[in-house]
Amino acid sequence: MHDLVIRGGTLVRPGGLEQADVAVDGDQISAIGPELGAAKLEIDARELHVFPGVIDAHVHFNEPGRTLWEGVASGSRALAAGGGTLFFDMPLNSLPCTVNASGLAQKLEAMQQNAATDFALWGGLVPGNLAHLPDLAAGGVVGFKAFMSDSGLEEFPRADDYTLYQGMLKAKELGLPVAVHAESEELTRGLSESALAAGKRGVRDYLQSRPVLAELEAIQRALLLAQQTGCKLHLVHVSSGQGVAMVVEAKAKGVDVSLETCPHYLFFTDEDMERLQGALKCAPPLRSRRERDHLWQRVLDGQVDLIASDHSPSPPELKKGEDFFKLWGGIAGVQSTLSVLVTEGYDLRGLSLEAIARLTAESPAKRFRLARKGALEAGYDADITLVDLGSKFVLREQDLLQRHPVSPYLNRSFRGKVRQTLVRGFTVYFGGRALEGAWGKLARPGL
Ligand code: ZN
Repeated sequence: MHDLVIRGGTLVRPGGLEQADVAVDGDQISAIGPELGAAKLEIDARELHVFPGVIDAHVHFNEPGRTLWEGVASGSRALAAGGGTLFFDMPLNSLPCTVNASGLAQKLEAMQQNAATDFALWGGLVPGNLAHLPDLAAGGVVGFKAFMSDSGLEEFPRADDYTLYQGMLKAKELGLPVAVHAESEELTRGLSESALAAGKRGVRDYLQSRPVLAELEAIQRALLLAQQTGCKLHLVHVSSGQGVAMVVEAKAKGVDVSLETCPHYLFFTDEDMERLQGALKCAPPLRSRRERDHLWQRVLDGQVDLIASDHSPSPPELKKGEDFFKLWGGIAGVQSTLSVLVTEGYDLRGLSLEAIARLTAESPAKRFRLARKGALEAGYDADITLVDLGSKFVLREQDLLQRHPVSPYLNRSFRGKVRQTLVRGFTVYFGGRALEGAWGKLARPGL
């Protein structure tokens, strides 16, 4: 007698789609096949697609310290509503930042007390914290995040080339990747200062202060450092097809590099940023339609490793004002990744469901060595999302489970409603409601 059997769904697996039952015993998938035996609990999935739970490798839930901006409880429930079962929390926006053992202990406590889904943690790489990287590694971080341009937060200073170089040498020793926000500080700072000096404060002025060139210059430098040190590199939120092309070339030369892009770079363009203003402010910024289409082509060609939300909300008042440069930069989209990929990718551009599962589950689990995560396979954690691909819906404020109902995706139409999300076999989201409680556990590399 199994604990749970999910009956007759269409499973999205690396080898293709397959109609089968999924049996769950304890935390794990115990069997996959036709007409599995009796169970204490059954879910009828005959009309549904069964995806591996979405792994969001890039969120800022801002706890401890800035829970008024989001918080782990609301952030993780919003993730679950979007089909997510595991998030990687970034080392900044929380106070303290996760840059040493004590910061990590406080972050871990906040997670354990509040996370509705499983979680993993990024450590930070900042000037002066090299000696703390081994402690962070011992505490189970998936890697070290650094900013090549100003992070916007004083408490998380950007990594200069020396810090990046030394950090990569240390990270290599520890067997962990370094993740970088790749934009050139010199170019973005110079362009911003000259815009501000000329009294230019609008969306277009902001866009011009962070051109694709600034991204490409930083990617190139990060790739060179990774090549020279042998450190694994992960490029977060690459916003341009040209950036992807640069990474593809480096991979061909043997550099151990992966890259993510975000749903907002695939869904929106610079024109949307002018229309929606603060809700779409982010760095790197949104790009032209042409650049957006180029990025999509790279996704369709299988050249993007993974897609993560970079959910980074703030209170609504920080998103409003005349001076666009001063608004908080960060998009709140943790609930919409799968919806965007199904609607804009599968429906509109022919992206396969298997590719969606690879981009949102299999690939992040493999890259960050989470051995029991990311696939519908016996022996893997039963992190499962049931999606009704036949359904259409419009995202409304009341559907959002995050703290502040600010999202650029509001009032947009999507296909593929998430019906149910299970974390290690336990239902954390069903019928529009998410679990109140802390079911989540830390996922550590190698385990
Ligand atoms: Zn981020």
